[in-house]
Amino acid sequence: MKTYQGGCHCGAVRFTVTCEPIEKGLRCNCSLCTRKGAMMSPEPVPEADLQIEADEDALGLYQFGTKTARHFFCKSCGVYTFHETARWAGYYRVNLGCIDDLDVFALDYELFDGKHLL
Ligand SMILES: [Zn+2]
Repeated sequence: MKTYQGGCHCGAVRFTVTCEPIEKGLRCNCSLCTRKGAMMSPEPVPEADLQIEADEDALGLYQFGTKTARHFFCKSCGVYTFHETARWAGYYRVNLGCIDDLDVFALDYELFDGKHLL
């Protein structure tokens, strides 16, 4: 297991995630992720392995469709930082582009068929 630090662009939302070493990413083809274009962590992590440090009222929440997944973003800079998955309540994926010193463009990725999930 490895610990990664990350955050939004302006720094109002920071997080620490503990997971298997990140060697690849995950991209999703759902209507929201297509628009965000973010590369996500491949394995969902339990809530206990994601420590969130956000300024008061900094974290925005967006939900759509069945409203099971919880998509968080920084209200100040607008960056998507992490979300609670639709299929596994209490499990999160993070935006790999938010992780300090991780070159997301060097990573291969798998495609998640979120388009047909909901
Ligand atoms: Zn921000």
